[in-house]
Amino acid sequence: ITMNDPVQVQQICVAVRKRPLNKKENTRKEVDVVTVPNKEHIVVHEPKLKVDLTKYLENQVFRYDYAFDESSDNDLVYKFTAKPLVQTIFEGGMATCFAYGQTGSGKTHTMGGDFLGKSQDCTKGIYALAAKDVFRFLNSAKYQSEDLIVTSSFFEIYSGKVFDLLNNKSKLRVLEDGKQQVQVVGLQENLVECVDDVLKLIQHGNSVRTSGQTSANQHSSRSHAVFQIILKKRMTGRLHGKFSLIDLAGNERGADTSSANRQTRMEGAEINKSLLALKECIRALGHKGAHLPFRASKLTQVLRDSFIGENSRTCMIAMISPGLSSCEHSLNTLRYADRVKEL
Ligand code: ADP
Ligand code: MG
Repeated sequence: ITMNDPVQVQQICVAVRKRPLNKKENTRKEVDVVTVPNKEHIVVHEPKLKVDLTKYLENQVFRYDYAFDESSDNDLVYKFTAKPLVQTIFEGGMATCFAYGQTGSGKTHTMGGDFLGKSQDCTKGIYALAAKDVFRFLNSAKYQSEDLIVTSSFFEIYSGKVFDLLNNKSKLRVLEDGKQQVQVVGLQENLVECVDDVLKLIQHGNSVRTSGQTSANQHSSRSHAVFQIILKKRMTGRLHGKFSLIDLAGNERGADTSSANRQTRMEGAEINKSLLALKECIRALGHKGAHLPFRASKLTQVLRDSFIGENSRTCMIAMISPGLSSCEHSLNTLRYADRVKEL
């Protein structure tokens, strides 16, 4: 797929992104078992053994709205997934974009980008690329007269609890009122006026997210990070539209349900529950009147207003580690992504 290909406009978009083998994997001679033959298909060449022990490869083929190979960069992925949703929030709608996949598959690289020191010196991810377009829209002739302002919030959901990444990880309560409106009480919302403001927030939130952890991935692989870009009317403060960008917990953690460690087991169960509920909520978007199990997890509960309403749109990017040792996890990821849109 290239920058010149046409972008489809649809309520639910499911894409898959294969990352390249990294240095470590190359050093230990990991075999790449994933190919992307065209702009919609991805193939996992799964090694199998016959009963007589002869080896063979079983090709598992999956089809999505878009398939990005290892040469795709964040700009390309962004163009076809989150970018079309910027329009949605300016039209007063709600948009969500999810990065799904196992730990190490490229979720944070795709969403948050990679910071190599200063904020100017980084690979922008979807958070920043979306913010850039939001500011462009804001200053365009069409929307200038709407007099909108932009704020951002950044929080994580860990083990069913919400923590504010813009306020030193303070624990927040989630309340639902009589009208089923869900509120994260006290969630910090910072006014942002340019991309650099947004980059600083991301960098700050990320440092808060990983502080006090022995390894960056240990904690972040078990939490969902939610970055929001919120449009409001300047005069009234009334909500106009909201874009929620979510770096999900590693899906392999949902299988931690037999760990010897009770805490790990509980966290695994919680992750599993939230990813199952998420799948159902996205599916329900496409089927009017379908049951929305948003109360089944904290993640779907806080995103409730994004799953209802005529003007809600979503995209999911399933991330794939190409190595042979990730084969099983990759197939799980692809099957899940398949189910999100299956009728
Ligand atoms: P996750 O958030 O899913 O656990 P990361 O985004 O942290 O995974 O990616 C793991 C490592 O792989 C990081 O060092 C990241 O920079 C690198 N990486 C991920 N995706 C890509 C890509 N498409 N191209 C190059 N490097 C990548
Ligand atoms: Mg990550």
